[in-house]
Amino acid sequence: MSAPPPEAITLLRKILGPDNFSVRPEDLLAHSFDAAKKSGPPAGVAWPTSTEQVSAVMRLADEHRFPVVPRGAGSGLSGGSVPVAGGLVLSLNRMDRVIEINPHDLVAVVQPGVINARLQKMVEEMGLFFPPDPGSAEFSTLGGNVAENAGGLRAVKYGVTRDYVLGLTAVIPGGEVIRTGVRTHKGVVGYDLTGLIVGSEGTLAVITELILRLIPKPEAKRTVEALFDHPTRASLAVAEIMAAGVTPTALEFIDHASLRAVDEYLSLDLPDWARAMLLIELDGPPEVVDRHLGQVQHILEKCGAGQIRAAIDPVQADVLWRARRAMGPAVYALAGGKINEDVVVPLSRVPDMVERLEALAAETGLIIASFGHLGDGNLHVNVMYHPDRGQTELAHQTVGRVFDLTLELGGTLSGEHGVGLSKRPFIGRELDPVAMRLMKDIKRVFDPHHILNPDKIFPDD
Ligand SMILES: Cc1cc2nc3c(=O)[nH]c(=O)nc-3n(C[C@H](O)[C@H](O)[C@H](O)COP(=O)(O)OP(=O)(O)OC[C@H]3O[C@@H](n4cnc5c(N)ncnc54)[C@H](O)[C@@H]3O)c2cc1C
Repeated sequence: MSAPPPEAITLLRKILGPDNFSVRPEDLLAHSFDAAKKSGPPAGVAWPTSTEQVSAVMRLADEHRFPVVPRGAGSGLSGGSVPVAGGLVLSLNRMDRVIEINPHDLVAVVQPGVINARLQKMVEEMGLFFPPDPGSAEFSTLGGNVAENAGGLRAVKYGVTRDYVLGLTAVIPGGEVIRTGVRTHKGVVGYDLTGLIVGSEGTLAVITELILRLIPKPEAKRTVEALFDHPTRASLAVAEIMAAGVTPTALEFIDHASLRAVDEYLSLDLPDWARAMLLIELDGPPEVVDRHLGQVQHILEKCGAGQIRAAIDPVQADVLWRARRAMGPAVYALAGGKINEDVVVPLSRVPDMVERLEALAAETGLIIASFGHLGDGNLHVNVMYHPDRGQTELAHQTVGRVFDLTLELGGTLSGEHGVGLSKRPFIGRELDPVAMRLMKDIKRVFDPHHILNPDKIFPDD
């Protein structure tokens, strides 16, 4: 099982039209990797433009037993859209219509290829708000966000993508079209198949339409940045802010190694003593935001912040956010190799996690650059290594130790990037064996011939 046979290729061209199917080497190469830098070449790339075309492709794939790998923008950080078993990449990019934005029902109906930021902008112009805001919002698709149950900067206050998916249309292996969920803000009829497909990483069904929940746009927003001379002080401030009844919209942390990298990358000229940064955003009614800002500033001072800057307008806020947005590219300068994980620990264990990661870096001699959504305990831990200095094996062992540490502190291996290819070998450390068996059974019910995004999530038996 890997490539569609010649007669299936002929039928794919017929189903999709000549412009929406390719076996050109440049298209195969462009669809062979994602942002996790994992790669595997497909045998063909399809760009369906309707649910009917997706259904016909899935029927054909099931008949001929070739793999199909759904793909949005390929910004995934766990290898989820990489066609490791060959077959067909099914790119949903050309299904990019915003079908409806209904301010009365507070719903949006969209195709999966719509870019997240485009929907955010459209609804905000109408006084509405779509909270899921991954760092990749400017280029990742809503289909990919839903398939990964993406989190992002605002998850600490508003929750994750799952909290905004009311219903969906999807195609299951074999070609049947299913419509799940509701377009109301509540609904409990039957099992929650929408919830099951959200976060299933393209392994159960291909999503072709989404019904999303919207909320009113918050009236006011304020951003504050704080620098600390020690990461523990910053992580204690995170725990205090979260326990104070102030739920920030975003509460981002940048550790010493990451701060150094971004200082260099953006020439920020940060003070030498700065060893950690917090970025905090608050939103809501203006009087509440002002009151909470005062509380947050008080906690930051009490926890020993050496410098606190509050933005007075959106332009200044943008300047403060610059460092956080540049983190991804900035850390690449630290070493040639990077393994990026996104573990989560309970809020009360955040200071322990930060300290123990520092200790692990000191012990292994590797740079471990950590930053991320610490307000919900979610840390992007980047284990940096020099492949040319023989550090690859050590880096992989260190990642295993980061996972063990996370589980020991009561956490989970992934807050938002998914299992994909990268975490397959590790999920047995976290999942209950009976739960894992049931998950595999569910996969078999949806996909008896194992053609949809095979070799993902579960370790080999
Ligand atoms: C700079 C940067 C910042 C990031 N920040 C965040 C962040 O803050 N929070 C976060 O959660 N993630 C973040 N990510 C990771 C990534 O952007 C998200 O996982 C995003 O949701 C992936 O969307 P995509 O369109 O690129 O999907 P892809 O990478 O193309 O696919 C991701 C998975 O979804 C499946 N899939 C895609 N479309 C469909 C569909 N229509 N039907 C069924 N399955 C489908 C694929 O098979 C694959 O398993 C970041 C990535 C980068 C590069």
